[in-house]
Amino acid sequence: MQNNPAQGRAPGAVSTFEAMKRGFSGCCPHCGEGGMFRAFLKVADEGPGCGEALHHHQADDFPAYVVIVIVGHILVPLVLLVETHIAPPFWVGMTLWPAAVIALSLALIQPVKGAIVGLQWALGMHGFDQAKKERDALAAGLVPAAE
Ligand SMILES: [Zn+2]
Repeated sequence: MQNNPAQGRAPGAVSTFEAMKRGFSGCCPHCGEGGMFRAFLKVADEGPGCGEALHHHQADDFPAYVVIVIVGHILVPLVLLVETHIAPPFWVGMTLWPAAVIALSLALIQPVKGAIVGLQWALGMHGFDQAKKERDALAAGLVPAAE
């Protein structure tokens, strides 16, 4: 992974955006290897490739709030557009929109949760603070790399 020193990060450090991108893809924010989730919304205790502790995350309800905001911003304008310009029969609206809400929400909830876990990991929130301090010290060359 390339690193831009102009951004003020130590060499080898993973940016917050990269960690969130990895999490969004269901990959470990630390090494980028897949398998962050051991079930649909259950985060694995450790990254499967590197053993990075992931059990510290406290995503709680935040992924659901983010999904509601995203789905709302997609579907509300679409509903207004379709209902005002096409005006389909009542049963179509009562079938189509709830199905769209459910499908979009299910499609987004895991990636959004992964991105939030990646964000917490990158920022050293909750129990991730010690791991972040160790990463920062390693990247700054204050601690010799293991192996
Ligand atoms: Zn990993």
